[in-house]
Amino acid sequence: MYPKDRLEGWHCGQGHWAEVSESDWKRWRWQMQHRLTTVDALEEYMELTPEEKAGCYFANRKLAFAITPYFFNLIDLEDPDCPIRRQVIPRIEEMNTAPEEMLDPVGEDGCKPVEGLVHRYPDRVLFLVTDQCASYCRYCTRSRLVSNAQDYNFHPEFEAGLNYIEAHPQIRDVLLSGGDPLLLNDRKLDYLLGRLRAIPHVEFIRIGSRIPVFLPQRITSELCEIFKKHGPIWMSIHVNHPKECTVELLDACERLVMQGGVPLGNQSVLLRGVNDDVETMKSLVHRLLMMRVRPYYLYQCDLITGSQHLRSDVSKGLEIIKGLRGHTTGYSIPQFVIDAPGGGGKVPINPEYVEKVTDADIVVRNYEGKLYRYPLLNGVPLATPDAAGELLV
Ligand SMILES: *Cc1c(COP(=O)(O)O)cnc(C)c1O
Ligand code: SF4
Repeated sequence: MYPKDRLEGWHCGQGHWAEVSESDWKRWRWQMQHRLTTVDALEEYMELTPEEKAGCYFANRKLAFAITPYFFNLIDLEDPDCPIRRQVIPRIEEMNTAPEEMLDPVGEDGCKPVEGLVHRYPDRVLFLVTDQCASYCRYCTRSRLVSNAQDYNFHPEFEAGLNYIEAHPQIRDVLLSGGDPLLLNDRKLDYLLGRLRAIPHVEFIRIGSRIPVFLPQRITSELCEIFKKHGPIWMSIHVNHPKECTVELLDACERLVMQGGVPLGNQSVLLRGVNDDVETMKSLVHRLLMMRVRPYYLYQCDLITGSQHLRSDVSKGLEIIKGLRGHTTGYSIPQFVIDAPGGGGKVPINPEYVEKVTDADIVVRNYEGKLYRYPLLNGVPLATPDAAGELLV
């Protein structure tokens, strides 16, 4: 257990809900039932800017808003640019659609053999098992389908997805996502993981979830027992800013790892005014390591409709990776990726460290900007495109 007395500045506690009993506060159902989902509810606790208020009225026609009391406490109410606030409070800019923006920016609907299953890569599938999340991220890639407010659970599609996986032996990796799979109740998760584990060709099962961040109370001992029973289950959580690293999240990660045997990774989305600078990212990845979470991907924000105000330039992502590599622990550095618009899948984007290649050697630049030479035995090592690439989108 990381020594708690060293977690200075890590938020913890009931904040605006100090009068609520501790047992209620710690119940995930209580948190879900008391989510802030209307302008009136928000205005009980904060002053919305006119841009936010207009965004809230628009939101229910596009991507609902909902914020758990736990997560709402992380907002700095004095700061209209608070990085937590920008992620979950709608803004008027969501109503604009830039020319490059799309409803299905990464082309998921084009490789969907059955409803809720995306089969883009031969050996693995993305299995969307619910349309609900505990809170909604304003830049969500799947805003076309999340927050639909209908319980997917044992809908035929759910079975159709399992049948498809059973019938395709090349699928060795199943990624459960949504919406947020951890909003399914324990019985349904137990059933789903049991069904997947029973398929002989499924070697690797993982869950993509922002529940530990929005609703750490959901990570109960009972849930961890289910992961242990069907394990190994891997999990990618979704933390964007160091303020999201709280004592509650740290405890939830601890339970997942220690009780559930769940290896943890993190996926962040590069967001303008939230985490698009080296210092913020460095602080985030350091905190992640303290919580036993290995940074996995840093995503360039997808071209989802109404996201322009939250998107950063690709150069910012490169600057961040450059500012981390060599300057801090290698384990803490995520892979920066662009999910290629239109359905190309994730493509790694890296800063250039190769200065020059000759027939005899390669000249590389280290993190301090110094040049070093390494001899080559077999000429040019760099891959050159063997066919003229055709631009697909
Ligand atoms: C991200 C993603 C995966 C998993 O990709 P990894 O690089 O293995 O993490 C699988 N299928 C789809 C459709 C995805 O978007
Ligand atoms: S938690 Fe994930 S699926 Fe849910 S709104 Fe956020 S990004 Fe979208």
